[in-house]
This record gives sequence, C-alpha cells and structure tokens, in this order.
Amino acid sequence: MYVRGVGPKVAEMLAAKDIQTAEDLLYHLPFRYEDRQNPRSLDELKTGEMASVIAEVRGSILLRTRKAPIFELTVGQGRCAMKCVWFNGSYLSGKFHAGQTVAVYGRVEPSRSSSNLKMIQPQFELLPDEGADAETRLLEVGRITPVYESLGGARLASRWQRRTIFHLLEAVRGAVPECLPRAMLARLDLPDRETSLREVHFPPEGTPFAQLQASATPAHRRLIFEELFFLELGLELKRRRMRERAGIAFATNDKVREAIREVLPFHPTAAQKRALGEIVGDMRQPNPMRRLLQGDVGSGKTIVALQAMLVALENGYQAALMAPTEILATQHFLAARKLLERSSRKPRIVLLTGSLDEDRKRRTRGEINRGEAQLVIGTHALIEEKVEFDRLGLVVVDEQHRFGVLQRFKLMKKPGPDGAPGAEPDMLVMTATPIPRTLALSLYGDLDVSVLDEMPPGRTPIVTRRVPGEEAEKVWDFVRKQVGQGRQAYIVYPVIEGSKDDQPELDFSHDDPEIGIETPPAPGRSVRKGKTAELFPKTALEANPSAKSGLKSAVEMHQKLRAGPLAGLRVGLLHGRLDADEKEIVMRRFQRGEIDVLVATTVIEVGVDVPNATVMVVEHAERFGLAQLHQLRGRVGRGAAKSYCILMTGARVSEQGEERLNAMVRTQDGFELAELDLNLRGPGEFFGTRQAGMPEFRVANLLRDRQLLELAKIEASRFANPPAPGRGAPEGTEAERARVWARLKEAWQRRYGLVEAG
Ligand code: ADP
Ligand code: MG
Repeated sequence: MYVRGVGPKVAEMLAAKDIQTAEDLLYHLPFRYEDRQNPRSLDELKTGEMASVIAEVRGSILLRTRKAPIFELTVGQGRCAMKCVWFNGSYLSGKFHAGQTVAVYGRVEPSRSSSNLKMIQPQFELLPDEGADAETRLLEVGRITPVYESLGGARLASRWQRRTIFHLLEAVRGAVPECLPRAMLARLDLPDRETSLREVHFPPEGTPFAQLQASATPAHRRLIFEELFFLELGLELKRRRMRERAGIAFATNDKVREAIREVLPFHPTAAQKRALGEIVGDMRQPNPMRRLLQGDVGSGKTIVALQAMLVALENGYQAALMAPTEILATQHFLAARKLLERSSRKPRIVLLTGSLDEDRKRRTRGEINRGEAQLVIGTHALIEEKVEFDRLGLVVVDEQHRFGVLQRFKLMKKPGPDGAPGAEPDMLVMTATPIPRTLALSLYGDLDVSVLDEMPPGRTPIVTRRVPGEEAEKVWDFVRKQVGQGRQAYIVYPVIEGSKDDQPELDFSHDDPEIGIETPPAPGRSVRKGKTAELFPKTALEANPSAKSGLKSAVEMHQKLRAGPLAGLRVGLLHGRLDADEKEIVMRRFQRGEIDVLVATTVIEVGVDVPNATVMVVEHAERFGLAQLHQLRGRVGRGAAKSYCILMTGARVSEQGEERLNAMVRTQDGFELAELDLNLRGPGEFFGTRQAGMPEFRVANLLRDRQLLELAKIEASRFANPPAPGRGAPEGTEAERARVWARLKEAWQRRYGLVEAG
C-alpha cells in the first residue's frame, strides 16, 4: 500500500532496517514516551526528580575544556532559567537558536550557576514553533509523545515516524485485520489489534505513565502476546511434526540395563536417574528424540549422555558426541574409554577432531563409515570432514551448539537392524546455560527439556575471593601451599600472547568481556553525586588511557611464573593455538597429576574435569563475562577437597564489572547468576541470539515478558489441540482459525525461518 511520507528513497532506508511493509512500520514501537500532557514549569522543579520541561532557548555555548568539550544550553520560562549540559557536545553547536521551543527530559540536578538547576545530558527535541502546522504541534505537545529509535539518521527520527505512523493509522482506520480469535481476546481481556496498534503509538489521555514505560499497557500486552503466541504456536507445530517423523525405537531390555550398570562408576543422583529415564523414554518411541539436557556446571551431564549412548550401542547403532572444543572432545574421549574399559563388550571408540593429521582422519572416517567405530567423539570436524556414518542412532551435542546441527550430519548409510528406512537418529543437546526453567520450556518449545537440578554428593562449596592485582604475591604463595598439599591449580588469562585483545579463544562473541571502556551513562540513569559531578563523566580514554594495553597473557605469564613465583613447581601451558596433539598431551598430564599448575586461556572454560584441581585463579577477572566466570569456577570444586576461586582484578573495574565480581563472590547459584547476567546484558546478548539461531523479537522481550510467554505457550497449545469432536467446540470461528494458521505461516517463514532444530 502507499504510505504517505514514504517514497522510493525512504523505502530503501527502511528496508535496511528490515521494515518492508506498512505492517512492519506499525510494529516499530516507541522505545519510550514523554509525558508532555502537563509539562513542568521550571519554578516547581525539585532536584533529583525526572522531569519533562518545555521551554524557550535562551542561548548556548561550547566550552573547550582540557578534557572533552562541553556544550551548554540555557533554556527559560519567563524569569526562570535552567542549564542543560552535554559532554563531548561539539556535535550540538549550531543546532539551537534563541527563541526556539525545546522539550527536554532528564534528571534535575543542582547547579552552581545563577539558574540553580541543570540537567546533564537530557533527552531533547526541538519543537515546531507556533507557525508550524497544527497537526505537527498536535503530535508533539500537550500529549503523551512517543519517542522512537531513528530508522535512518535525522531524517527518519522520531518526528518523521510520529507523522508517518499517524497518517498510516488514519489510512487504515477500521481496516486492520484481527489475527487472533475474538473469543480468545475476550477471555484474556486483551484489546483488538487495531486499537492496540493505535494506542501504543498514541496513548490516550490518562494512560498511566509508568505502565507505558514498562510496556505494560493493555495495548502493549496484546501486541507482545500476539508475537509470542505465534512463536509458541509454530514451535508447537514443529514438535507435533517431529512426533510424526520416523525414528528409531530403541529397546531397553535387561541386557541393555546390565550393560549400563556394569560401567557406572558411582550411584547416579536422583536427578540423573530422572533425566536418564526421560531420555530413554524418548529413545523407545518410534519417532526422533529432540531433547535438551540442562544442568549447571558440574551437575554430571556427561555420564547421563554416555549412558544414553550405550543404549544406542546395545541396539546395534552408532552414537556420536560432538563437543565445542578439541580439549573437551579429547577429555570426553579419554573419559569414555576409561569408563568402557569395564564393559564386557568393549565397543570401539574413536576421536575425530580437525587438527588430527590427514592420515589419521582418513582412517577414522573409514572406521566410522564401515561401522567398525561404534562410539564417535569429536568436534565440528564430525560435520565438516565428510564423515559418513554407517548406522547413526544417537547424536549428543555438548554445550553451545544448539540448532541446525543435525541436518549437517551425514546420517545413515543404511537403516539399522529394526529401523525403518530413512529413520532419523535421536538427538540430545546438553547445555550448562542455566536458563530459568520456565524460560527454557518456552524457548526451546520444540525440544523437550530435562533438568539436572542436583549436584553429585560430596561437593564442598567453593570459596570465592577478589584480590587486587598488587597482591599477586599472596596468591602465588597460596597456590604453592595448595600444591604442597598435593592439589592442582589453574591460572587463567584473557589472551594467549601479547597484550592485544585480538585473539579470541572460543567464539564468545555473545559474551563480550568489557574492555574497561565506560560510556557516559544514559540520560535518566543515575548520575554520580558529589564533587566529580561537575566534570563527570570521565570518558574511557581519559580515565584509562591504556585500556587496551597492559594485559597479561598466558604465554608470558607462564614464563614469568615458572622463572619466579612458582619456580620449582611443574607449570604447564594450554591455549587454543597449540595443535591437537600438544593439547592432548598437556591435558593428559594435568589429569594424571604430572602438572601442578596449568596456565591457560578460556579454552578450559567449558567442561574440563580434573577433580584434584582445587584452585582457580583468574587474572583480569573484570574482563570476563559472568557466564564465563561461572564456567571457569566450575572447573574446581569437583572433588571432596575444599576449593578456591580467586578473582584478580586489573587497574580499573567498570561499574558492570564490579557488579559481576560481587555477584560471583556472593553466590554460586548458576540460576541466580544467569538471571543477573540476563539483566545486565539483555536477553539478545545473553542467549547470543544470532549465534543460537533464536528469533529476534519485534515487540517482546523475553526477560520482561516471561509471564506473557507462559500464557502464550498455554494458549498456543490449546489452540493447536482443540477438543475432540463431540467434546466442545474449538475457540473462534472457522474463518478466524484459518486466519491464525495463515498468519502463522507468513510470520514464521519471515521471522523465524531460521529456527530449525533438525
Ligand atoms: P557437567 O554437567 O558440568 O558436564 P560432568 O559431567 O563433567 O559435569 O561431571 C562433573 C563431575 O562429577 C565429574 O567428575 C563426574 O565424574 C562427577 N559425577 C557425575 N555424576 C556423579 C555422581 N552421581 N556421583 C559422584 N560423582 C559424579
Ligand atoms: Mg560437561
């Protein structure tokens, strides 16, 4: 349709922001609102409050200070005046002219100047003057005004969007099709689609402001529910289709149970038993399993996976385990081999990683292809090195990889003993990301979820301490003492070599450790009080000129520690750039206790398991993300001996860094840390949205909208599974239901097309 204000050029700009249709534009919601119904007058403002003020521009000046230039704007109403201050404000010069009307929104601060009041970095908008057309004024003053993120420079900023969306809403008045059954909306007490769209953009007078800011008005709730409903409905459908696909019905008879029992090195926890029960229950079904095994670091996921793999083996199938790093794959390989030594069957286990030499890889591929190798453990090489399985029955994917992996397995050459031709293998995904259960259930709507919510017995809590870098000597003393008692230690550095941060170890792009650079706080956020407030904020580079240098690295510290503080101890080095054999040798020696102290990078973050290690020292701990620190700490405390996690910090720790470190000291609960992490980083980053292939949302926010997510899941399942004939009618008319399905198809293809769990 033709939208007023959108020509070809603008359309192109909008497309760049993924706004292709009029509907897309309507779903581009304001990110905040300004209450300009009753703007405040300057003489009634109190310091400390957030306020919206409409005043006249009196003058402005750019102050060149030793540090950043400061832009000062004076605004006034009658005899009252107020200063507005922007640091690094050169970009504002020339923008304001005396006599213009401006709306500013920010926290009121005391000022030493004659005006007594000021705002630091307020949000502002120049308002149309009296001469402007009535419509423009109508949209911007005397009402709750929506504020949008720009869709392209100054041109497509808030003002443009207000007008365009306003016209669009007028043009479609009475013609926005409803996409949910009326009866459902009535039951849930949610407004219709058109009303909701209108009211999120132009809230009616009297809408509680706090509700608006929290995206909690009925209009918001309706649009969020709508988005989540279609997500959940799609997941529901995928799950149902999975139930219809042909898989392998594994048998679990006494023989299989005995095979598992004879290798189990300990009594499983109740949680492990329950999870295995759920997994095996799925495996017995004649359709493919798609299950997520979630358990905090150290909860004992590996053994559960190995047991499931044994079930496949005993049924005459191959099983594959894919780990995110070579070190971890190697460790799983060694552990599996040790475990299966006790097995009377002695299955053949092979390891396949990218850095093995070509000869060995070729031989291993051959063994897998001919079915001589039953248990296959490896890295991504399993899908990258043209591996063809003979009869693959179960794929276990450990940590991190989530979606889209299974399709890339060259699955079965031939059907198994009792598998139908074309039968798909089962799949188990393991994750230590402690996603709150409700969230996991909803997010992984197409996976079933098992949770290990219990730690194996005999663990003692880990003592976590923060130590400033200057006190390193004490730390090394402590490490020596522990080694003297027969224990082992890890010392972790953020980089391999050199001091530049250009050597990412794992792909933790979603877990961007801070570089110590602080951006000025967003307006409206709290501003530090006290003397420094006048000249605040220090920008990153002033405050921390060497933010990017002065980093200790694993290679250098390995040398230094060996020569100095840890002389006489057996100190090993492990990082991502060693080749596979070297890694394996170091890992093995550490496991056998032939290395006392392992200097490493985050390659050891995931999954490494050496119960005799009791000390985890992390240097530059402020640079690591919470999830990483939690994973690193999880490397100790795996045995009965008391364990320690020592977080050493560099010169300057940002506010967020402080919060993370304090949280680490305060709690060991992965769920609590995850929640905090979620709060600090927002769900997109937390889940590594893109990496995980998770959908991006237009209006919903998984953290904020958890309750609506639950509701959407329930409603989706109810909609997809209407009562059986004769037991009541499905909700909504036939036409409405048909529209829901049509909309699902469209929305799913467009928004969630990439979510494929295989
Ligand atoms: P994660 O869930 O982090 O992958 P692991 O599978 O590596 O945890 O298990 C952590 C440690 O706990 C390992 O040393 C493992 O052998 C041990 N473990 C697992 N289950 C039990 C159990 N039921 N009893 C005693 N130790 C266990
Ligand atoms: Mg593990």
